[in-house]
Amino acid sequence: FDREDKIDYVFKVVATGDSAVGKTQILSRFTKNSFCFDSKSTIGVEFQTRTLTIKGKVIKAQIWDTAGQERYRAVTSAYYRGALGALVVYDITKRRTFDNVARWVDELRAYADTSIVIMLIGNKADLVDLREVPTEDAVEFAENKGLFFSETSALSGDNVESAFFQLLEEIHGIV
Ligand code: GDP
Ligand code: MG
Repeated sequence: FDREDKIDYVFKVVATGDSAVGKTQILSRFTKNSFCFDSKSTIGVEFQTRTLTIKGKVIKAQIWDTAGQERYRAVTSAYYRGALGALVVYDITKRRTFDNVARWVDELRAYADTSIVIMLIGNKADLVDLREVPTEDAVEFAENKGLFFSETSALSGDNVESAFFQLLEEIHGIV
């Protein structure tokens, strides 16, 4: 029995956003249900995968992670090529990472397919006392730009699963 035989679709999803907002940990939470406290900012892996079923179809989500290039805003067009979905992640405790979201969305609009589905993610929602970005600001931004939106915690796992499922279901609806 070879599981690969049963895959109906492979969906490439890319993670973007400033350095240290939690992109790698969100991916680990979703693909391995794990969180690594002493994660280094650079990990050599290009993507992580998880196979799941949506509306009776077996979907392999191939989620691409940066290897630190986002620090120098040096993410190349190859990274975005063929992506059907994107997570644009900011840290709710760092206003600057939210202010930079518009630039990441512009980059997606420039390099990715026009039909790409974008999910704005406010991560580190567990750090309630350190919040710098009100939820309403992000809701308004997402509405204006036509993005889906969720606040997550890779640490606790809150909303990570639901955010990915919403994104993947939306992609499934348009393929
Ligand atoms: P990346 O550079 O965007 O890939 O960020 P990382 O995934 O490497 O995470 C950067 C730092 O934020 C690490 O020290 C993580 O442990 C921490 N971190 C990531 N997600 C969360 C979260 O949901 N809550 C908290 N409290 N810390 C987080
Ligand atoms: Mg990372």
